[in-house]
Amino acid sequence: MDSVKIENMRLSDLQTGEVGIIVKILGHGAFRNRITEMGFVKGKKVRVIKNAPLRDPVEYEIMDYKVSLRRSEAKLIEVLPPEDVLQEILVPFEGTIDENILKLTKGKKGVNINVALVGNPNSGKTTLFNYASGSHERVGNYGGVTIDSKEAHFEIDDYRINIVDLPGTYSLTEYTPEEMYVRQHITDNTPDVVVNVIDASNLERNLFLTTQLIDMNIKVVIALNMFDELEQKNVRFDFDTLGKMMGIPIIPTVSSKGIGIDNLFKKVIAVYLDKDPTVRHIHINYGENIESAIKAIQKELKKNLELSDQYSTRYLSIKLIEGERTTRELMQQYENHEAILSIAKKEVSKLEKEFAEKAETVISDAKYGFIAGALGETYIQTEVDRRKTSAELDNIITHKIFGFPIFLFFMWFMFQATFSIGSIPMEWINAGVNLLGNYIYGFMSEGPLRDLICQGIIGGVGGVIVFLPNILILFFFISLMEDTGYMARASFIMDRIMHKIGLHGKSFIPLLMGFGCNVPAVMATRTLENRKDRLLTMIITPFMSCSARLPVYVLLISAFFPKHQGLVLFSIYGLGIFCAVVVALIMKKTVFAKEDVPFVMELPPYRVPTLRSTSIHMWHKAVQYLKKMGTVILVASVVIWALGYYPRDHQYTMNYDGAIQTIKNDAGLSQDAKDDRVSLLETRKLSEHQENSYIGKMGHFIEPAISPLGFDWRIGVSIITGLAAKEIVVSTMGVLYQVDLSAKNSEATLKDKILAQEYTSGPKTGLHVFSPLIALTLMVFILIYFPCVAVIAAIKKEGNWKWALFTMFYTTGLAWALAFLTHYIGGLII
Ligand code: GDP
Ligand code: MG
Repeated sequence: MDSVKIENMRLSDLQTGEVGIIVKILGHGAFRNRITEMGFVKGKKVRVIKNAPLRDPVEYEIMDYKVSLRRSEAKLIEVLPPEDVLQEILVPFEGTIDENILKLTKGKKGVNINVALVGNPNSGKTTLFNYASGSHERVGNYGGVTIDSKEAHFEIDDYRINIVDLPGTYSLTEYTPEEMYVRQHITDNTPDVVVNVIDASNLERNLFLTTQLIDMNIKVVIALNMFDELEQKNVRFDFDTLGKMMGIPIIPTVSSKGIGIDNLFKKVIAVYLDKDPTVRHIHINYGENIESAIKAIQKELKKNLELSDQYSTRYLSIKLIEGERTTRELMQQYENHEAILSIAKKEVSKLEKEFAEKAETVISDAKYGFIAGALGETYIQTEVDRRKTSAELDNIITHKIFGFPIFLFFMWFMFQATFSIGSIPMEWINAGVNLLGNYIYGFMSEGPLRDLICQGIIGGVGGVIVFLPNILILFFFISLMEDTGYMARASFIMDRIMHKIGLHGKSFIPLLMGFGCNVPAVMATRTLENRKDRLLTMIITPFMSCSARLPVYVLLISAFFPKHQGLVLFSIYGLGIFCAVVVALIMKKTVFAKEDVPFVMELPPYRVPTLRSTSIHMWHKAVQYLKKMGTVILVASVVIWALGYYPRDHQYTMNYDGAIQTIKNDAGLSQDAKDDRVSLLETRKLSEHQENSYIGKMGHFIEPAISPLGFDWRIGVSIITGLAAKEIVVSTMGVLYQVDLSAKNSEATLKDKILAQEYTSGPKTGLHVFSPLIALTLMVFILIYFPCVAVIAAIKKEGNWKWALFTMFYTTGLAWALAFLTHYIGGLII
């Protein structure tokens, strides 16, 4: 297994005092950047100041600076003696030689571009090799006994191309000697450009190898060979877009006739010179779990520069997750190999527990998902050639016409189940919270501490935790959709519509999740590769009316729109979606204007999910929600409680306590009548206290801002408390609008109170505080304004604090404007 010899000299080969011109930088991303920053670029002159054999580091002089490099680094820089580069211009040589002059130095010492042909057996590599090099290698399969590669060279555009025909393989794992051979050639000889020869009549299988080349993060050009056969089939294949999605230029060839070979190598040169706009390194998305395992391993790998200079750490991590022996052995030569291997082992066993499957299988499934998605968008086949059951099922589910109603049905079912199944445990939790509150209330002695625990903490957090079952059910469905592979199809179906508003199909999932809760929705934007798409999706997510806002709508709609409940609710949700679309369109034209880079939407194979893995995934999401409970909502509840509780020493307009005592002592009243009157006085007292508390003052303070919308100060307070969580809006109204505490059905009572509420002072005295128009205006405002503290925190975490601030202000501003319009136009109509 003799591999091809490296032709050019490396910087490490130069002796003390010798000079070389840099012709090529090998090695990997981070290394290239580092070395370029130091001034090591093509065409520069380097002098060796001190190179003691076997001694590290070596000292160099470049552009009058002294720099020392490790020997392993110097090995990755290819040089030529200056006299070989250009004799004529050497005299006035000032350190840098223009690339165009460099390429003129053709002939035996010219710039070599090392190219390796990689591809499936029978994809036409040897035919291509023979045509390009003019040699006459035998065309045929390798026997499998001797594994060999053929080399040749030829000149094109003043470049000398060294081309190697490697054995055909289906994959780059370690299962066959051929595979090992090809891999070693790529990692050890670091060809400048790999030409991936693909049989166009069998794209799916051939592209599998391509996905492995993508993992390796090397320069690749695809020869879409047997293009003649593809043309005979009745298909449309947009290989240009596919190339853009994968970041790899694709050139159609018919190597048996020599068609396209010239183009192919011109492209190879462009890619070599980094002058091809298509080239871009993409990551195949292996899904949240595997990606986080990759990150964990990468972190350890990156501690070793020598290793990360030469290899893509992402690639090595993937290989370690696949459990490859070769890669594990490779690690042995690095200092931190024990740490690397133990982290890898830990991550793998975690993955295999979660998937109940070998990590390797999960990875190759993801690769096929990537291919299916890539081809799904670019390869349009006619009725004649269809394949496999997964594809059959996909034909129905992602069907142009049926796909959409099927999808809508699933969505409807999900929301329906979320609310109807969720309402049962919701009552249990409600009862539990009340029980706990009462128990502690009876058990503690009177005072601020008891009020803090019962009203502030249990009341606040308890009011929100009742939504946990809904959230769990919603998360269960979302996990189920993810695990079966349906989620990927849903984004696929929505892709076209989403493109119309400048987003991708993938943004659809976070937006959809937003109807449940905006917090996990913002977190779900992580699956979007592009930062701009991610940010844009994040800032329109709050317009997806989350389940916490629903109680507000239910209250107001049932009070003021009893005849058109469904229609009004639907319109509110619709308005949210409309705002999202408009904002997306504007943002896309302004802040997020950019060239659209197509990317692959993976279509992973359908799986029968295990209850275990779906539950685990659901739980992961639920934990995030529970964290929100324990932090943001807890703190906010306490703060709101304190603002409403203090100051305690203000003057009441009447002696409530005395009046209550009088009623209690009144022998002429029945117990029921007593209770009624007492509770009326108590709520009046509470209401008056609220008005004088800090939060009441805040409500009054913002009154000028909200009175153009027709809101009174109590609504102002509710809006302020809603900043913590929208769930709190209704409970705040419950306190402020003097609900009869003895009534059992608090929401119905609140509704009646709201209907009856009148202004007691000021110019509007005697008028109703609420009207259908005010209710509508309030719903519009609640829908659009400041999402909630937890969402802002999530946006800060996923984006940055600037976008978090931006979201706070633009949503509130928009809410005010639209509420004002609603109020104003509504006023004109009525
Ligand atoms: P290798 O295994 O990748 O080296 O593939 P070969 O070069 O041995 O080619 C396999 C077969 O495909 C040979 O019979 C070639 O003549 C044929 N072939 C190669 N390129 C093309 C092409 O572009 N179109 C067609 N129709 N046949 C081709
Ligand atoms: Mg061959």
